[in-house]
Amino acid sequence: MSGYTLTENAPLTGRNTFRVPVRAQLLAEVRQVSALEELFSFPMLRDGPVLVLGEGSNLLLVADVPGVVVSLAMHGITILESDDTSALVRAEAGVSWNDFVQYTLGHGLAGLENLSLIPGTVGAAPIQNIGAYGVEVAEFIETVEAFDRVHLALERLGRGQCRFGYRDSLFKQEAGRWVVTAVEFRLPRHAEPRLAYAGIREELAAMDVGQPRPSQVAEAVIRLRTRKLPNPALIGNAGSFFKNPVVSQHTAERLAAENPTLPVFPSGSAGQAKLSAAWLIEACGWKGHRDGDAGISDQHALVLVNHGHASGRELLALARKVAASVSARFGIELEPEPRIIGADPDARWS
Ligand SMILES: Cc1cc2nc3c(=O)[nH]c(=O)nc-3n(C[C@H](O)[C@H](O)[C@H](O)COP(=O)(O)OP(=O)(O)OC[C@H]3O[C@@H](n4cnc5c(N)ncnc54)[C@H](O)[C@@H]3O)c2cc1C
Repeated sequence: MSGYTLTENAPLTGRNTFRVPVRAQLLAEVRQVSALEELFSFPMLRDGPVLVLGEGSNLLLVADVPGVVVSLAMHGITILESDDTSALVRAEAGVSWNDFVQYTLGHGLAGLENLSLIPGTVGAAPIQNIGAYGVEVAEFIETVEAFDRVHLALERLGRGQCRFGYRDSLFKQEAGRWVVTAVEFRLPRHAEPRLAYAGIREELAAMDVGQPRPSQVAEAVIRLRTRKLPNPALIGNAGSFFKNPVVSQHTAERLAAENPTLPVFPSGSAGQAKLSAAWLIEACGWKGHRDGDAGISDQHALVLVNHGHASGRELLALARKVAASVSARFGIELEPEPRIIGADPDARWS
């Protein structure tokens, strides 16, 4: 029992939510954390390219993936501590994020309800500090357990060491070094619901709920997301393809004066503001656009979609055209949210 399985020339079509038909030179499926040390001491993994893959819901795979794709098939959830005020819950990297959120709600724990229905795995959640409806996962993370490829050792990193930011973390900044194996969350039993963000109150009102329990907030979020976002099970996509651009307050005010309907949000940093990337893209006329099977969703202008047989290259070409037109019209540079793997090295977002 080595704790892992290796497959050469493995298809990844069912392992990325854009459903682009690419292959991995070698796929390593890991069932035991203890196998990582042995695996990463093989020359191909020690010296060559390695991609850690969760559910592939935040990736655009442009070409076949050279080297090794590592998938973590560890699915345990354990309540480590519990009292009247909070609990400390550990989930292994391969657990589905939404299953984990539902598990915590089912055990009377609050905090993660606004993050319901985000696709992907627990192991990927800290990578870009997933967030939705005014909540970021970093707020509830106590410890990230990760295998360090540099020192070939398992490390425990406290929240303060993880350098969390808006869709950012140490694990993203040092991509390739860390393999997240488990995450520990400190979750309160009672918390003020976060209802300030777009549409949650209205959805709860439509559900006829006055003082919502966390599970009811989760239900409102699930209803909203189901209505607003194209379902990757039905049409290939990776959620929001572009980050909301953060610009100087001065630029935001100038653009808002020229474009009175442009949504401007606080960025969390003094002197800066966040703009709605969806608005900028829609204003350039891209919503519902198609170049063959590569398209921009007609439900949501931020979502790049695969209508069937688009290649990663075609999807990337359309995304670049969208960004170039926003840049030409508004002088704003959009950045992709998903990681792009295999783009030509001298082009944008390689
Ligand atoms: C319809 C849809 C809606 C979405 N909505 C949101 C949203 O509201 N908010 C949000 O923040 N995101 C959202 N996303 C993006 C995505 O769901 C998250 O980023 C999710 O955390 C990705 O998980 P994954 O397992 O699919 O990761 P993958 O796509 O497989 O990987 C993403 C990145 O993380 C790395 N990675 C994955 N697992 C590990 C690990 N164990 N250790 C080290 N590195 C790892 C990969 O190498 C890659 O760089 C959405 C995506 C879709 C398709």
